[in-house]
Amino acid sequence: MFSKTLPFDREFIEKLAEQYPTPFYLYDEKTLRRNARLFTESFAWNTGFKEFFAIKANPNPELLKILKTESLGGDCSSLPELLICERVGMNGEEIMFTSNNTPATEFIKAKKLGAIINLDDLAHLEFLEHHAGLPDLISFRWNPGALRDVESVIGNPVEAKYGLTTDQIFEGFAMAKRKGIKRFGLHTMVASNMLQNEFFHYTAKTVFELVLEIERRVGVRIEFVNLGGGFGVAYRPEQTPLDLKRVAEMIHEEYDKLIIPSNLSPLKIFTESGRLVAAESGTLLTRVIHEKNIYKRYIGVDACMANLMRPGMYGAYHHITALGKPEHSGLAVETVDVVGSLCENCAKFAVDRALPKIEIGDLLAIHDAGAHGYAMGFQYNGKLRCAELLLQENGTVRMIRRAETPDDYFATLILK
Ligand SMILES: *Cc1c(COP(=O)(O)O)cnc(C)c1O
Repeated sequence: MFSKTLPFDREFIEKLAEQYPTPFYLYDEKTLRRNARLFTESFAWNTGFKEFFAIKANPNPELLKILKTESLGGDCSSLPELLICERVGMNGEEIMFTSNNTPATEFIKAKKLGAIINLDDLAHLEFLEHHAGLPDLISFRWNPGALRDVESVIGNPVEAKYGLTTDQIFEGFAMAKRKGIKRFGLHTMVASNMLQNEFFHYTAKTVFELVLEIERRVGVRIEFVNLGGGFGVAYRPEQTPLDLKRVAEMIHEEYDKLIIPSNLSPLKIFTESGRLVAAESGTLLTRVIHEKNIYKRYIGVDACMANLMRPGMYGAYHHITALGKPEHSGLAVETVDVVGSLCENCAKFAVDRALPKIEIGDLLAIHDAGAHGYAMGFQYNGKLRCAELLLQENGTVRMIRRAETPDDYFATLILK
């Protein structure tokens, strides 16, 4: 039988809920560190390797501080995300700025921080020069266009708004070289939540081939390749997780085949994963407040889609554990929809889910919510974002963001 484990039990959460009312996010520092180290250890063979945590996935600065101690950098695409990096003491090439349709103010801030600027369009080189001046190091984001056998949430790269075409990549580096830029990087990201090891091998291979071609055609030596994010999480207990160690080995083999014989080594490898670093460390804890039996049976909880949008928005699966009710204990199982209170019928955490017999007052743990969870929160329908708590390595819990109150909801209004 497949199941998922949690680093706490019902008693622990009941105690916590006396101090911090549900719903709340609880992040496990140990799991966060373990998954950060998975990147640094898997790619230890590559001198200069760096994982830039995609702040989009979880913008809580306390988590970013932890990741910084694991030697991760930050990947930003907005002004507040750059400010978050600055706040936790990241600067210079610890920050990757991978944005698109970028406002001038953001380029100016990124340049001031000395961040690695990754351009999403040919025209952005002059836009950057005009507004912020040119840095010594520039990177371009490559959109490979038609790819073999690629299915992803991002979809067909031809339909994606991101990056430069292959022809434009050569033009971009030639233009950058003419403008006196000395250091160069290449970025691509064509997957989202991908669980196939082979996919990342294939991506790395095509990127390495492009590095060779850029050197041959433009005489530009690439210093790093950024393989983006998209490293998948096995949200369903029966799914086979991505094997990042194996992925890194396959990329190593390709490096030895293509980069070393071409004398293009050292070539640094960068990643900008959000999901695989943070998802597993975060759990959304919520209490059952209603049960309703109409054409279907509904379990109503005190969290809603404003706290975790992925199931409602993408139909994404998040595993749910009823704390204190083991999944395979032989307890009666029932099939239910687990719903929040938002007035949209998509606002469900699970549809037709088999769970142990649920009662009002039960605590439900919604797994793997540490990435693209709190981060996608919103206030639609007057729903407020919940608190975030950190289960520290020493076993104590610390609040790292308080819950919003109606005052926060009214804070930006200008009322007569
Ligand atoms: C969203 C995003 C990421 C992170 O993606 P994950 O699926 O969380 O790994 C990295 N880079 C860019 C440019 C992104 O847009």
